Amino acid sequence: MTTNPNLSLITLMTLLMCLTPTLIKSDNDIDVLLPISLNLTVLTDPFSISAASRDFGNVTDVNPGAVLCPSSPAEVARLLRFANGDFSYDRDSDTSSPGFKVAARGQGHSLRGQASAPGGVVVNMTCLAKTTKPAAVVVSADGSYADVAAGAMWVEVLEAALARGLSPVTFTDYLYLSVGGTLSNAGIGGQVFRHGPQISNVHELDVITGKGDMVTCSPKLHPELFYGVLGGLGQFGIITRARIALDHAPTRVKWIRILYSDFSAFTRDQERLISMANDLRVDYLEGQLMMSNGIVDTSFFPLSDQTRVTSLVNDHRIIYVLEVAKYYDSTTLPIIDQVIDTLTRTLGFTPGLMFVQDVPYFDFLNRVRNEEDKLRSIGLWEVPHPWLNIFVPRSRILDFHEGVIKGLLLNQTATSGVTLFYPTNRNKWNNLMSAMIPDEDVFYVIGFLQSAGGSHNFEELENLNDKIINFCDNSGIKIKEYLMHYTRKEDWMKHFGPKWNDFLRRKMMFDPEKLLSPGQDIFN
Ligand code: FAD
Repeated sequence: MTTNPNLSLITLMTLLMCLTPTLIKSDNDIDVLLPISLNLTVLTDPFSISAASRDFGNVTDVNPGAVLCPSSPAEVARLLRFANGDFSYDRDSDTSSPGFKVAARGQGHSLRGQASAPGGVVVNMTCLAKTTKPAAVVVSADGSYADVAAGAMWVEVLEAALARGLSPVTFTDYLYLSVGGTLSNAGIGGQVFRHGPQISNVHELDVITGKGDMVTCSPKLHPELFYGVLGGLGQFGIITRARIALDHAPTRVKWIRILYSDFSAFTRDQERLISMANDLRVDYLEGQLMMSNGIVDTSFFPLSDQTRVTSLVNDHRIIYVLEVAKYYDSTTLPIIDQVIDTLTRTLGFTPGLMFVQDVPYFDFLNRVRNEEDKLRSIGLWEVPHPWLNIFVPRSRILDFHEGVIKGLLLNQTATSGVTLFYPTNRNKWNNLMSAMIPDEDVFYVIGFLQSAGGSHNFEELENLNDKIINFCDNSGIKIKEYLMHYTRKEDWMKHFGPKWNDFLRRKMMFDPEKLLSPGQDIFN
């Protein structure tokens, strides 16, 4: 799609404070008339439109009609009320009922245009975070929570909390995602087995519903909206503030990677570690695969061991990497090595294949930023990302390993990107929330984080994703996709399963005109 040249003219007209209504003309030929009395300045210049049309996935390119850079939640509410056909702003009554779509956009790290609004208005949540007073992140006096503007990034929440010796308890692997963006999905990572996803660690939200109502909600206050919005894919309202739980922050981390050639030993140890309930348990657990037909990244390991690790991968074709972290501070410093020893003594790995780094807490949480810098420097960040993220029930993980990892992945001439592979617990997820997970106490998070480019053709990677999904379907492995993008209603109904009717009911309650987050393609 290309940008409509009429739009820059409209910007000029707005800037000149002309007396006629602002016209947003989209490529889809939807005319949106914003009356002057609405008092909203929208951006329609080619740069703003283009920036809002693409995302990290680099697969879709969908032009909005305009971008709103709001300076208050009230502006977003006005926009939505007008989009619902509220004419009370239009004193000249020469504007029509627009019915244009509206999508909040955090950092635009979606994969398939989920934050887009074809021909409608994209709301830039970063603008709102920047103008939130007294600050985008305010830590409470007792330190138990932070009130956060939803357009702020998790790295900003962490920095503000650390200044008071505090921290959120659960993180995504990458911190440059907006709070509103991850809360609309789930927000998962290596702390989830212990604390639950980010959506399980929110006390309260300010939400502007699709109807334009500004509502404060919590488990006790408007619970239907609160739970609906968490994992709700932006369908019920735009989150403007989230009250995030905080806890004491450690200062340092023992960051450990242990290599396995035996899949059963790898998963047995992973599952044992996430089932521990005492103080000895690890604070973070993930895992990934190193395959001889992929790029073997040995940078974590000491220089003297890197050749050995590469040989190991080549010899076995696949090595399973268990990744754990144990936090500590000055109080626990005297015992940390002993704790690590006790924790790892009973694990089933070959001696000599455990590697430990000792890093500051912030650096550990911010570890993916280094990867981003590396990829950017070689031009491999802004490439298409046909990522596939799935949750696999524990009871079928052996079948999944045989069919997908050995049967499909290892048989590729070359694999691209990182493959995440780790179990987590269901008991920290609240079933009232919109997010969907498998119906088993333990399930695996598996991420095929592939990048197209170079020898990796986008279509081939997409084919591989299709084969993975087909294998699961044909083998009766009841996976749930995460960060998914379906275009058929039946796929969404299957995804939400027994929760579909609740999802639909909430949509009718909070966004009956079906204006919000059209890029998710659920109600289009
Ligand atoms: P956007 O792409 O801007 O928006 C995503 C969706 O949320 C859209 O539908 C949008 O309309 C809606 N939305 C955005 N803000 C709001 C709001 N304030 N109110 C209501 N709806 C809103 N996810 C994980 O769970 N764990 C990870 O470890 C992880 N790692 C990642 C690493 C990288 C490098 C990338 C690119 C993504 C990763 N993700 C991870 C996925 C990420 O959580 C989602 O893509 C998330 O949506 C990104 O946040 P964002 O601010 O970019 O959202």
